[in-house]
Amino acid sequence: MSTQPSFADNPSNESRDPAYFGYYAMLQHQQNMLQDTVRTSTYRNAILLNTECFEDKLVMDVGAGSGILSYFAVQAGAKKVYAVEASDMALKMKKLVKAASLPNAKNDFLKDRVEVIQAKIEDPSVKAPKVDTIISEPIGVLLVHERMIESFIYARDTFLKPGGHLFPNKGTMYLAPFTDALLFTETMGKARFWEQTTFHGVDLSPLYPDAKAEMFGMPVVGHFDPKSLLATPTSDAEGYEMDFSTITMKELRDFVVPISWKAQYTGLMHGVAGWFDLLFSGNTESEASQPVEMSTGPSAEKTHWQQVRFMFREPLAVNAGQTIRGWMHCVVNDMRSYTVDIEVIAGQYGELSDPSQPFEPLLEQQTKRQGHARTSEPEEQEEEEEEDDLQFSRRRGRWELHEQSYNYSYTGSANDMLTKPEHLCMYEPENVDDAYGGITYTV
Ligand code: SAH
Repeated sequence: MSTQPSFADNPSNESRDPAYFGYYAMLQHQQNMLQDTVRTSTYRNAILLNTECFEDKLVMDVGAGSGILSYFAVQAGAKKVYAVEASDMALKMKKLVKAASLPNAKNDFLKDRVEVIQAKIEDPSVKAPKVDTIISEPIGVLLVHERMIESFIYARDTFLKPGGHLFPNKGTMYLAPFTDALLFTETMGKARFWEQTTFHGVDLSPLYPDAKAEMFGMPVVGHFDPKSLLATPTSDAEGYEMDFSTITMKELRDFVVPISWKAQYTGLMHGVAGWFDLLFSGNTESEASQPVEMSTGPSAEKTHWQQVRFMFREPLAVNAGQTIRGWMHCVVNDMRSYTVDIEVIAGQYGELSDPSQPFEPLLEQQTKRQGHARTSEPEEQEEEEEEDDLQFSRRRGRWELHEQSYNYSYTGSANDMLTKPEHLCMYEPENVDDAYGGITYTV
């Protein structure tokens, strides 16, 4: 019996279904994903290199779309694939599968192998047996946008045989501090429109703080120069791993990603960048398994997911060698997405706030304390001043992952490749030995 809450518990999220599935019912949007060569060939490799999980097996494709993953599963020898798709794209899939039974059909390998089921996977009317392997591409911007991983793990709990396989079986999220003065300037430029006091004779400035909150509250989706990172996560250990075979609905709907970096450059941190990797382990208990990995990071080949950046309203000055601590708290919202709170502190002093406490923008916290300081004892005031000092090294913000804006200024062209850290106002620490001609002075 499944103990997971059903979508019926979440009617407001469900109210977004017509728009969501209307989008996926269009061939052009399926095509956009199919034409993401990195994505499509990674899935194909993962499936065809791990035929052990497909040969003569029952397979389910969750959110089958055009059916491409189902067709790969048949190519890998699947006995039968249950292709579950909620949108009207299911009708297109049926057309393609039906054509496989025509005389001389090129797709005759698909004949009697794919059963298209038009329904949401969560719909109790879905009649399918337990399967050996579930394939799905439930991945959105920053791994979790669109909240489709919830459907993937619902399918796992409802339709996967014990010991069955998931493709993919892991996702790892990576965060890193970035600098981008141009992006900051552009965003401020948009907000500053509302600073005008005589716009056709009207003072717009009362709305300036709201404009700033809105413009900076939009995550920026696009590729960026990997050299603009002030610290680069180097190992898997630095990522936040989601194991799709064990993760619970609760862990997916509210999670905290710890942040701990060591700045490699002196510069201005304009915010936090994020991306993810996907892992297809195949059958981990078999020697024949061939794990396949895919990265959507800034140094990897481009994908349609791009990367995402959360920009601070005020940049944070960091020195090479300094630690940056913090957290990112992600909580699902009714827009098939997440509300993202981020806090960071540069340097070793000061305590991070508790991510589970209600969000309070730093500005409001400060104003409250200043009001209190006027009436408090001198000793208390000193403590508060220390706290105020800490505000210079702390940044906190909130972003709505569905309110994305786009930035395509980075092309990855040969010119971009010539960029040196100092062109991005990032400064390398000087090697002391070099500076003194190889002699180390002790003072
Ligand atoms: N598997 C295809 C399409 C991936 S896009 C490919 O890899 O190219 C995700 C698809 O899942 C969309 O077509 C969307 O309509 C479908 N989908 C999303 N949530 C679903 C749900 N809960 N039940 C069934 N289909 C769903």
